Amino acid sequence: MVGGGQLARMTHQAAIPLGARFRVLAASPSESAAQVVGDVVLGSEDDLADLRRFAQGCDVVTFDHEQVPTALLEALEADGVAVRPSPQALVHAQDKGVMRARLAEIGVPCPRNRIVADPADVAAFAAEVGGWPVVLKTTRGGYDGKGVWIVRGEQEAAVPFAAGVPVLAEEKVDFTRELAACVVRSPHGQAVAYPVVESIQVDGVCREVIAPAPNLAEELAVRAQRIALSIAGELGVTGHLAVELFETVDGRILVNELAMRPHNSGHWSIDGAITSQFENHLRAVLDLPLGDPRARAPWTVMVNVLGGDYPDMYRPYLHVMARDPGVKVHMYGKDVKPGRKVGHVTVCGDDLDEVRERARHAADYLRGDITE
Ligand code: ADP
Repeated sequence: MVGGGQLARMTHQAAIPLGARFRVLAASPSESAAQVVGDVVLGSEDDLADLRRFAQGCDVVTFDHEQVPTALLEALEADGVAVRPSPQALVHAQDKGVMRARLAEIGVPCPRNRIVADPADVAAFAAEVGGWPVVLKTTRGGYDGKGVWIVRGEQEAAVPFAAGVPVLAEEKVDFTRELAACVVRSPHGQAVAYPVVESIQVDGVCREVIAPAPNLAEELAVRAQRIALSIAGELGVTGHLAVELFETVDGRILVNELAMRPHNSGHWSIDGAITSQFENHLRAVLDLPLGDPRARAPWTVMVNVLGGDYPDMYRPYLHVMARDPGVKVHMYGKDVKPGRKVGHVTVCGDDLDEVRERARHAADYLRGDITE
């Protein structure tokens, strides 16, 4: 797996019972996955020699993040390496402009959007979609809300252009909540769809995921799953695809963005589904039959642990684990920094309010927000 972050760490965990040998390409031995994986190649995903050194002897190469240059992946493919998802599919998760153009071609509902040239063009776009505010996004390089601006006038519209990459303008969607539809597709074309989840974002960062999304009409859930399956098929995705969605006030489902790797909106599946997203991602890229994606319990709530005050987790573990033996704690071995995702907790059960309270309490405590 290219990248040594927490997604590689959790994929490694899923590789163990499959008996699949697992190697990561990491930038440093202190990265989340590099701390626990036995076979670590140190190097850069921007360096073809490093990528080749890493890929030598691998049956298949996959990713914990999407930022690997397309040309380098095409060079690996030309060497005969199986790259999954392929660079031709992956580009739709790397470049929001390419993604919007392709989704329009295949008839997937998206916010109105177009590439804009400069602040005056943003003002023209605002007029086309009924006025300010509009959302501006750098087409490449953004994550966790970095690279996204809500702009209320032409004078505010200059900042995104400073990065020197094309800028995408979108209508500001009046959404009631954010959903995610996660699917997994194998090279054989087998696909499975996870229950559609609600994802609660704070300042562009995922805070909490509820599986399944509460009070989501069956018809909308099926529509969201169909959208995700058709994107996976049309784009030739292999592995896990997360489709981030907006549910609008008037009952529409619009696609926000795509991730072609295990995704934060699927972490609940480690403890809450029969087959986790990580195991199914591995099964897919290895072209094995896929596992059952259904939930084990009526409700699963996953809450991210963001930053916090505890470089030493021992004391908070004593509290959290003693208070609630049903909480599953996943820490990533990352240095604690304010706002950074350093772990998550998961609780499953029959009563949503209770499950949610327990998961929130554990995450708040691990974060240091509460001390009792
Ligand atoms: P990133 O790639 O950084 O995750 P996203 O494209 O997912 O960025 O946008 C981050 C957040 O900004 C979204 O979760 C959503 O809350 C908000 N957002 C993005 N696009 C729109 C839009 N067109 N209308 C309203 N809100 C949006």
